[in-house]
Amino acid sequence: MTRMAPLLARNEQFAANYTPGPLGPPTEQMVIVSCLDHRVDPAITLRLQLGDAPVIRNAGGRVTQAVIDDISFLAYLAEQLFGAQVEGDRLFEVAVIHHTQCGTGLLADPGFRHQVAEATGLAEAALGASAVADPHITVKADVEHLLAAPSLSPKVSVSGHVYDIATGHLTPTVDARYP
Ligand SMILES: [Zn+2]
Repeated sequence: MTRMAPLLARNEQFAANYTPGPLGPPTEQMVIVSCLDHRVDPAITLRLQLGDAPVIRNAGGRVTQAVIDDISFLAYLAEQLFGAQVEGDRLFEVAVIHHTQCGTGLLADPGFRHQVAEATGLAEAALGASAVADPHITVKADVEHLLAAPSLSPKVSVSGHVYDIATGHLTPTVDARYP
């Protein structure tokens, strides 16, 4: 018996009314970067539909090198596949979303960080770098980090937002800007 059983049943219901869509540019011309926390799923909080926007999620919603690589690849794909369909020199906007009460905030505590490093073998410095203690500060830093990435397409803009777990509200904190 698998714990997937109830989810597989939900999938049966989903597939019963499903119509596949063609491969095309994301309807909203957005890419979302978000924390993997199960309380902040952008499909729910932003009411995304299938085909609306690719979502990249990791601990904290941090702009890591892996995230930069994915966005660079998505921009290349978008240019190659749909370049003619997008207006002017815009491919998509990346919205970086950090949130309050983030579990990675615990990593701001050196004692806890040391404990995690000991137990998992992960590098203490990398753990410290992924901490979201104040989402308003880290989201600004990550927007700047992404905008400064040499591989970022000049046709991709970046904005920053903070999601409040207590209210369900998403607040824009950094205006969209091109590199
Ligand atoms: Zn989080």
